[in-house]
Formats: sequence, structure tokens, C-alpha cells
Amino acid sequence: MNILAVGAHPDDMEILAAGTLAAYAKQGHTVTICVMTNGELGSETLPKQEISELRRAEAERSATVLGAELLWLDEPDGFLYDTPATRAKMISAIRTARPDVIITHSPEDYHPDHRTASKIAVDARQLGCCALLSPEEPPAGTIPVVLLADTLGGIGCEPEFWVDISATIGIKLAMLREHRSQNDWLRSLHGTDYTEFVERLGSLRGLQAGTGYAEGFRLYRGYPVPADVTELLPGK
Ligand SMILES: [Zn+2]
Repeated sequence: MNILAVGAHPDDMEILAAGTLAAYAKQGHTVTICVMTNGELGSETLPKQEISELRRAEAERSATVLGAELLWLDEPDGFLYDTPATRAKMISAIRTARPDVIITHSPEDYHPDHRTASKIAVDARQLGCCALLSPEEPPAGTIPVVLLADTLGGIGCEPEFWVDISATIGIKLAMLREHRSQNDWLRSLHGTDYTEFVERLGSLRGLQAGTGYAEGFRLYRGYPVPADVTELLPGK
């Protein structure tokens, strides 16, 4: 299968779904990570352009850990909107990755860019198949299934199913370590670092799933929905 992870910021899909993406990759599926904004607000000391370029390089290295391709859509951090232009970029990303499964944010997550990224990804999933849109690109052949990732901190999110990431949490942490510029930023903003943050929620979701570490997901319920979503998850 082809898996497309759509995050608002350069580290989002690592925080929320990298254990699952690593499980897909280990089983030979093709993973693409799409980052919608340029992360230019993620510093208290560096100018916007500099932090954005640094974060892109970090995201590239993180994707390399997984053997994934990175798509960088370069929208302004904090000001992601659903416009004809952003929707066109998403359609193009879908046509590049040709996903069977899209993983993106929950529509009620805490950050406006997360909510908008979720909406754009969901709204573009069918349009990627429309041949009359941007006919210079071949249309996607399949309307992908959308899995909604956990919210940040799991707040207000009750997963419907869990992926055991006990065997891949090391890869998830290795990917997050590539986002070096953001560890200090996270600590000053939220009083925690990546390792602690990811281990606490992973451990809670693992407790719910009856395993060591897990990531939780819900199914986006728009036509077409799969008869059995577990067939689209990475196995053990
Ligand atoms: Zn984010």
C-alpha cells in the first residue's frame, strides 16, 4: 500500500503517528510525509526564514530515518487556510503519493493549522481522482481511506482502534531526535520534551490497547468507508 501522512507542521506526524508509519514501512509499504506549513514560527531566537529552512532540513532527515519521501507544501505557519491554492497543492500531493490510506490530524485538534490541514486532506481525497482538475497530472486511481490521528495530548479524543508501536517506538524517537530545533521550543512552550511527551501518551494508549506502547486512531466516516479497517492497518 501507499501511505500518505499529512501534518500541519514539520514534526506533527512524527509526534502523532510515526510508530504506525514505521510499522507500515517495516512491512514494505511506501510512506510519504506531507508537511503543509513551513514551520517559520517555531523559534524564539531565529528569524522566520532561518528556522523554516532548518526545520525543512530536520524534516528531511527524519523522513530519511523512515525511508519516506517528504512533500513540503510551504504554507505560512499559523495561517493555513482552505483556499483554492492550498487545496490544489493537496490534490497534487495526493497524485504524487497515490495513497491507499491518508493519516491526518483530528478535525478538533488544538491548533488551527491542525484543524485546517485535516479539512484540506479530507476534502481533497476525492478530488485527487478527478481527471479534469489539473489534467497535466495523472489523476489518483483510488479514493483513499482517511485515518484521523490522536489529538495533541489525547485531549477530547477517544480512539476507535490502536496500533501497537512497542516494536517501533525507537524509530519514532529517532525521527523526533532529528527535529533538534524543536525540543527546546517544546520545553519552553509546554514544559516537556519530545521523549517525555511521546512516551506518556504512547504509554496511555498502550494501556488502553493492552500493549506497551500504542497510537490511537479513528476512521473518517465519509463514502467510501472500508468494510474492515483493520485490513488497512499495519499488522504485527
Ligand atoms: Zn503542529
